[in-house]
Amino acid sequence: MTDRYLEFANSGLGGWMVGALGLPKPAPLQRRAEAGAAALQPLLLDSAGGGRMGPVLERVAAASGAPLRRRWSADERYGGLVFDASDCIDVASARALYAFFHQAVRSVAEHGRIVVIGTPPEQAATAEAEAIQRGLEGFVRSLAKEARRGIGVQLLYVALGDEEAAASTLDFLLSPRSAYVSGQVVRVSAPQVAGDQRLGHAGRHVLVTGASRGIGEAIVRLFAAEGAQVTALDVPAAREDLEKLAGELGVRPLGLDITAPEAGQALVTAARAAGGFDVVVHNAGITRDRTLARMDAREWDSVMAVNLGAPLALTRALQEAGAIRRNGRIVAVSSLSGVAGNMGQTNYALSKAGWIGAVHRLAKDGLGEGVTINAVAPGFIETRMTAAIPFAIREAGRRMNSMGQGGSPVDVAETIAWLAHPASGGVNGQVVRVCGQSLLGA
Ligand code: NAD
Repeated sequence: MTDRYLEFANSGLGGWMVGALGLPKPAPLQRRAEAGAAALQPLLLDSAGGGRMGPVLERVAAASGAPLRRRWSADERYGGLVFDASDCIDVASARALYAFFHQAVRSVAEHGRIVVIGTPPEQAATAEAEAIQRGLEGFVRSLAKEARRGIGVQLLYVALGDEEAAASTLDFLLSPRSAYVSGQVVRVSAPQVAGDQRLGHAGRHVLVTGASRGIGEAIVRLFAAEGAQVTALDVPAAREDLEKLAGELGVRPLGLDITAPEAGQALVTAARAAGGFDVVVHNAGITRDRTLARMDAREWDSVMAVNLGAPLALTRALQEAGAIRRNGRIVAVSSLSGVAGNMGQTNYALSKAGWIGAVHRLAKDGLGEGVTINAVAPGFIETRMTAAIPFAIREAGRRMNSMGQGGSPVDVAETIAWLAHPASGGVNGQVVRVCGQSLLGA
C-alpha cells in the first residue's frame, strides 16, 4: 500500500510545504533493491581503547567491497560507523563515546549505519564497568532517535573472545538489508557450529508458514531468490495463490492448516522428503481483535492456536523426528503488540509475547546440534493486515517511529534471512524488532 504522505513530503512542492509548516519529513528508506550497485561509501572503525573488532570488520568490509578507515576525517562521508566501546569501563573512559560521536555523527551519509560494540554487561569486571556497558543501551537508543535521514543505530554486545561470531550480524547491520531496523540490541556469542560467512542460503531447505501473501510471501521470494529450496505452506483455501507462487518461483506448495490434528505428521513427512529442514519460519498468524470483555471464546482460542500453540507443537514434532538439520534455524514472527500490548489484542499479544518466552527457553534447552531459535517482532508493516486498519489509527501507527513510516514485508524477510544465515549461529534466543524504532514498547 502506498504511503502518500511520504511521497508528498519528498516531492518538490510537498517538501517545501512540509518544511514551511514544520511537519516531519521522513526519508525514503534505501533497501537492497534501491541501493543496487551504488558505490559503497567507506566504513569507519574506531574504539575507546585497543579495540577488538579490527580483524572481523576488515573481512566484513572486504566482502562488501567498502573501504575501511581507521581515522575520522571531516572531509569524508561514511556509509557506516563502528565504534568499539568495550573498553569503556568507567565514567571517565565512557567520555570516548562523546568525543567520537560528537564529531563523527555528522559525517554519516544518508541511509548510513552506526553500530556500537559492547561487552555483555554480565561479563564486565566491576560494577562501574557493568553500569557503563548496560548504559550503552540508553546511549544507542537515544542516538537512534537523533540520527534521522534513514540512518539505523544498533548496539551489538559481543562476548569476549567471540568476535569472529559477529561477522554475519555486522554484515547485516551495516547493509541496506537492515533498512527498517533501528535502536536494537543484539547479543552475539560463540556458535555451537561455526557456519561459513561466505555461504548463503543456496540449496538450503526452508519451510515458510503463512506463505501465500503478505510478509510470508516476501520471505518466500527472498529465500527463493537466494537459491534456497522453499516449501511454501498455507491453508488449503490459499492453494490458488500458493500454486501461482510455485509456478513463478519454483517453490514447493503445501496446503495445510497448521492447527489440523494431522499437521505434525504431514510436516514431518514433508521434511523427510526434503531431507530435513535447514530453516523453519513460523510466520502464519491471525488477529481476532476485540476488547477482552466482548471477545468470544472462539476468538481467543483460534488466535492462541494459530499463533502459538500450533507452531510450538510443530517445532516439537520436527525436533523429535530429527527433521531439523545440523546448524538449523528456527525463526518465529512475533509482534510489537507482544512487546507493548495493544487495545483489543489481549489474545494476540499473549500469543506474540509468548514467543519471547519460547525462544528464550528453547534456545537454552537446545533443539539439536547448532540449531538456533529467534524471533522477529515487526512493528507497522504495510500489508493487507494493516491496510484494513481505520485511517487515523493507521496513520498514527505509521508515523510513531524514528523512521516516520511503515516498514515493508521485505524488511521482515531480510531480518529473518540474517537470523537464518548459516553463519548466524552466535545469535540465539533473541527477539529483534523490525519497527523503525517504534515509540511503542520502547
Ligand atoms: P496476512 O494475514 O497477510 O498473512 C498471514 C498468512 O497466514 C495468510 O496467508 C494466512 O492464510 C496464513 N494462515 C493463517 N492461519 C493459518 C493456519 N492455520 N495454517 C496455515 N496458514 C495460516 O498477515 P501478514 O501481515 O503477512 O502477517 C504475517 C505474520 O506477521 C503474522 O504472524 C502476523 O501476526 C505478523 N505481524 C504482522 C504485522 C504487520 O504489520 N502486518 C506486524 C506484526 C506482526
